[in-house]
Amino acid sequence: MYFSELKKLDKQYIANTYNRSELAAVSGFGAECADFSEIRYIDFSSGIGVNSLGFTDKGWVDAVKEQLDKLGHISNLYYTQPQVALAKALCERTGMSRVFFANSGAEANEGAIKTARKYASDKYGGERYEIITLENSFHGRTVTTLAATGQDAFHKNFGPFTPGFVHANANDADDLISKVSDKTCAIMIECIQGEGGVIPLQKCFIKAIAEVCRERDILLITDEVQTGVGRTGKFLCGQHFGVKPDIVTLAKGLGGGLPIGAVLFSEKTKDTLGFGDHATTFGGNPIVCAGAMRVVEAIDGKFLDEVVEKGAYIEEVLLKMRGVKSVGGKGLMLGIELDEPLSSAETASECLKNGLLILTAKHKLRMLPPLIIGKKEIDAGLKILQRVLCEILDRPEETENERDGHI
Ligand SMILES: *Cc1c(COP(=O)(O)O)cnc(C)c1O
Repeated sequence: MYFSELKKLDKQYIANTYNRSELAAVSGFGAECADFSEIRYIDFSSGIGVNSLGFTDKGWVDAVKEQLDKLGHISNLYYTQPQVALAKALCERTGMSRVFFANSGAEANEGAIKTARKYASDKYGGERYEIITLENSFHGRTVTTLAATGQDAFHKNFGPFTPGFVHANANDADDLISKVSDKTCAIMIECIQGEGGVIPLQKCFIKAIAEVCRERDILLITDEVQTGVGRTGKFLCGQHFGVKPDIVTLAKGLGGGLPIGAVLFSEKTKDTLGFGDHATTFGGNPIVCAGAMRVVEAIDGKFLDEVVEKGAYIEEVLLKMRGVKSVGGKGLMLGIELDEPLSSAETASECLKNGLLILTAKHKLRMLPPLIIGKKEIDAGLKILQRVLCEILDRPEETENERDGHI
């Protein structure tokens, strides 16, 4: 099939919700993938922070295949070994106490929101249901997680939303505390806002949140859907900030490429959900859990140190790069602010033409390479990025006549 034909069929048969880039990937290995014509691309995107171990990691593929051959699915009415093993490993790695498995980030956040409301309802009655989230946050695309998301751009046309969400300014403790009331049951944050532009929260702001939560028995939920599972150089990003949340949500990088979400409960919240309070048909599927187990096993202390080193190296190179104004983020979650008049969307699409997959987040370029990326691929990708930035910066300005088209 020709690429042009595939594009035509995609447009015809798939809901047009994605502004797709000019690539049909057919195979991948590590931090590289290839298209129909076997042209290779360096991957600084990892499927939006999903392919933690890169494409087709041998251990992950073997773990998934082995489970696939044994037992593909059975409902959550029965026990399965891969699900229990993964939950135990997650608790041991994070200091949390219990896990509910879902299928995506939004679903994990729905589980967290339900738990927070149930916790408050059990203890204080039904009037304590408000959840404070931050401006510029992103928590998912379901109607409730959209209500939690503090970005108006996502809200257009989809109201009315689930009531009970209040947005506070990020890194503004006074504003946040002014929004806390007897109705507040939880505060939900991303320690580094991902979709919002790779913006880390300040340590003192997170400390202030943790303090008000402790004083008023408000649950602290950290949405680690993007930042979790080693992405920032610690297993959970909250560990950089010394924060001990009551609920943590994970998704993207956990499954190594298969869909999974997880809600992690602390000692305080582990008994909040009881029989019949929450459920899912697919969540905790044994194949997905077997793959995720391989991801969690791979991300040990040495692996995390390497994530930190690679992130520091990339940041150092970027900061010397022409066209780069600033670099933010942690580990292998980096946001790149470009000099004027460079646009992140145009830069990303030029990078693709030159063999590099890179993401954007608002006006920034965003790097979420697979955590296993090697120095060779890092250097090759950064070289492409530098070339593209120079090409755009050195491009002669088009004259008005050219834009008009000659008559
Ligand atoms: C991607 C993301 C989500 C939503 O995850 P889905 O799997 O797309 O539902 C929620 N929160 C954060 C922080 C994310 O980055």
